[in-house]
Amino acid sequence: MRLGVILGQLFVGLAALVVAGQSDLARIRPAEAQQPARREISKIAGELYMFRNNFHSSVFAVTPAGIIATDPINADAARWLKAELQTRFNQPVRYLIYSHDHADHISGGEVFADTALVIAHEDARPVIIGEKRPTAVPQVTFSDRMTIELGGTTVELAYAGRNHSNNSIVMRFPNERVLFAVDFIPVDSLAFRNFPDAYLDDWIESLKKVEAMDFDVLAPGHGPLGRKGNVRQFREYMEDLKSAVLQAIREGKSLDEMKQSIKLPKYEQWSGYKEDFPLNVEGMYRMVQANRLAN
Ligand SMILES: [Zn+2]
Repeated sequence: MRLGVILGQLFVGLAALVVAGQSDLARIRPAEAQQPARREISKIAGELYMFRNNFHSSVFAVTPAGIIATDPINADAARWLKAELQTRFNQPVRYLIYSHDHADHISGGEVFADTALVIAHEDARPVIIGEKRPTAVPQVTFSDRMTIELGGTTVELAYAGRNHSNNSIVMRFPNERVLFAVDFIPVDSLAFRNFPDAYLDDWIESLKKVEAMDFDVLAPGHGPLGRKGNVRQFREYMEDLKSAVLQAIREGKSLDEMKQSIKLPKYEQWSGYKEDFPLNVEGMYRMVQANRLAN
C-alpha cells in the first residue's frame, strides 16, 4: 500500500492555503471559502489514517473486519471519504464515532449510517437532537469510557470532563500510540476565538487527565499532527492566560484595556496569535468573571 500523503484531485491552486497550524474555519477568508474543498488521506501509524477536509481533520482505522471512522466533517466530505475507502480498502465503515456535538465536525454522519454503528458521548446525543445537527443521531452512547475492538484494532473512548464542549471525548489507539482529540487541545495554536461553548476550570482539569494518558502522537481536529507534549503546552497557555486576565481584573482594568495590554509573548509563534489572542482574552475574561466575587 502506498504510504504518505495521497492528495485529493482538487488540490490545484490551493497550495497557498496550506498554512501550518491553520486552525479554524474562521481564519479562512471568504474568497478562499469559495474554492473547491481540499481533501487528503495520509497515514499516521499502522493502519490508522488521517482524513483532512480543508481545515478539519478526523482519523480512521482500517481492519480486516471493516473500518472505524470518526468525525464525518460534512456530507460532501463524508461522501468523498466513503468512495475513497471503498476504492482503496474495499471495507465498509462499521463504527462512526463523534468527537463532540459541534456541526462543523460531525455533519454528514448519515452517509455512513447504512453500515456503521454511530457512537458519541451521552451528553452529545440530546444536543445533536435538540439543535437538529445535520447528521445521524448516535445509536450508542457512554458516560466515562468505552472500548471498541474490530479486526484486531482497539480504540479506547474516554470522557475527560467538560472543556471546549460538555461532551468532547478522546479516542486513544493504544497499539498505534495515537490520541485523537478535537478542538480542546490545539497544536501550537490558540483556542478558537472567544471560547464559545467552553468550561474553563473543567477544561484545564481535562487537559491534565489527557496528560496522564499513554500515547505519543496527538491527532487534532485542525492543523498538523502534534505530540503528547502539546497537551501540557496548551494547558500552560490556558493557565497563563487565566492568571494574566485575573490579575488585570483585580487591577481594575476594563476588558478593552486588557485586550490592548495583555500579551503572552511566549506564545506569539502559535497559529492565530495575531487574530485570536484578543478574543481569547475576551473569552477568558467572561469565564473568570463568571466565577469571581469582587468586594
Ligand atoms: Zn467544536
